[in-house]
Amino acid sequence: MISSTNLPTPARALAIGAHPDDIEFQCGATLAKWSAAGCEVSHLVLTDGSKGTWDAEADTRELVRTRQEEQRAAALSLGATGEVVFLHHEDGELQSGLAERDEVAYWIRKLQPDVVLGHDPWKRYRLHPDHRHAGWLAVDGIVAARDPHFYKAHDVAHHRPGSLLLFEADAPDHVEDVTGFGESKIAALLAHRSQHVSTMSIAADDDGTQLEAFGDKILARLAAAGANAGFQLGERFKLIDQL
Ligand SMILES: [Zn+2]
Repeated sequence: MISSTNLPTPARALAIGAHPDDIEFQCGATLAKWSAAGCEVSHLVLTDGSKGTWDAEADTRELVRTRQEEQRAAALSLGATGEVVFLHHEDGELQSGLAERDEVAYWIRKLQPDVVLGHDPWKRYRLHPDHRHAGWLAVDGIVAARDPHFYKAHDVAHHRPGSLLLFEADAPDHVEDVTGFGESKIAALLAHRSQHVSTMSIAADDDGTQLEAFGDKILARLAAAGANAGFQLGERFKLIDQL
């Protein structure tokens, strides 16, 4: 049930994703829209993406470096002017304990976002553990960041964001109108070249047909997400405000 649309453009936004490319898939067009309107968008990527290949012989250290470069290129494609921060936890082994919460709270305090975007930890029937843990870290990291008696060793002041938008939401209730920003989202996704084969069904010897089909699929998803709210293209979230 959609009950709200279009937050005011925040001055600063922080998107927290488990892996390189999660943020672009889930909220890339919203970030592109806000960046175009002057918002400082930062990315916090929790894992190193080292298992993101179907090639059993791959050099995973090289893959990690490649995926960091791809993530930076993707952020630029969205027009992001903030930081791209990597926490380097091993792909597939992310935890959401006090030490990881400390790290996320630190970056929320340091970057001072008005809006935080993250995975919905309450999403049912989701298999990947990193997405569940990343969701808890966004939620629990905000609670720790906003109050002064948590993690007093931080050299930055406590900070309370105004809103949390959970993506891949179990019960979405908010839509951002992203009409005009579909191509930016597709460009940012395609910047993750190491994921073309495994995640985007674009073969190395594709003649352009599969690449075009991928773009069409993304636009169709955005169109479906925007339809109920009367938008040509949309991205859906669970909105939690009054943090
Ligand atoms: Zn992921």
